[in-house]
Amino acid sequence: MDSPFPGSAPLHVVHAPGYDCPLPEGHPFPMAKFTALRQQLETAGGACFHAPQPATTRQLETSHAAGYLQALSTGTLDAKAQRRAGFLCTPALFARCALETGGTCRTVELALAHGLACNAAGGTHHAHFDFASGYCLLNDLAVAVHHARELGVRRVLILDCDVHQGDGTARLLADDRDAFTVSMHCAQNFPSRKADSDCDIGLPRGTGDAAYLQALHAHVPHLLDRLQPELVLYDAGVDVHRDDRLGHFMLSDAGLYRRDAAVIEMVRARDIPLACVIGGGYDRDIAALAARHALLFAAARDALAGRPEPCFAAAQPAGDAA
Ligand SMILES: [Zn+2]
Repeated sequence: MDSPFPGSAPLHVVHAPGYDCPLPEGHPFPMAKFTALRQQLETAGGACFHAPQPATTRQLETSHAAGYLQALSTGTLDAKAQRRAGFLCTPALFARCALETGGTCRTVELALAHGLACNAAGGTHHAHFDFASGYCLLNDLAVAVHHARELGVRRVLILDCDVHQGDGTARLLADDRDAFTVSMHCAQNFPSRKADSDCDIGLPRGTGDAAYLQALHAHVPHLLDRLQPELVLYDAGVDVHRDDRLGHFMLSDAGLYRRDAAVIEMVRARDIPLACVIGGGYDRDIAALAARHALLFAAARDALAGRPEPCFAAAQPAGDAA
């Protein structure tokens, strides 16, 4: 609980070593980022770490078919379904994803207790009711909405700023009148067949800091005021970064920090509890990738301390890189 900002509250961070589950050599998913991020957060200080419990079968069944969960947990998903997942779906990987989903549920609890909390994983928004897709097996966001309901929260807004549309979340919560799905993503990117979120903000390839932040400011305050959620779940995917392999956006490090700082400020200014997840990020340079994810935590720590990161403190975004 060491804080570099004397007098400021620690940032509540959920993480477990089990977030990092070994994959076959050469697998393109950057699994090592979860351990690297934890190390960077420990070095930065100011965090209070919480270890999650795996989501229970009962929790997972709020959003997923029992037969699908059974196949995942026993490693018996068929080959075609595993290809769509992007993973060899072993029981160990299922356990890792259940832990990550439990982590997002724990983050909701901490957000409700303290106002702001972050899961150092999560945002598996391509997971559907009975199939996995795009490196997502279990939809932690949808499960966390149901967990919030058990804690007495009804109206939840999911603000998904990963570069890919949150199609699984949108479909899982399509009939839930008190869960509002907002996805700000690259229109010409995976998934090719988009779902209908309650609000889709599709931006073109090459979008840079200025246009991105302009879109964020044009939509989010209005949505918060109109929908008046009792909880916001924020997916802070860093695959919007210019160096991301799967993104096609052109955000800089400063743009990422300003996005996260702006979301945190907009939500906290309205006294709405905010639970953050890190979302997607794909770079072979694990240290650089973890540093990108760490910007969310820096923005959150700085918000608690009441001061922005000096190097990213400019009030206005820089010009577009594209
Ligand atoms: Zn993504």
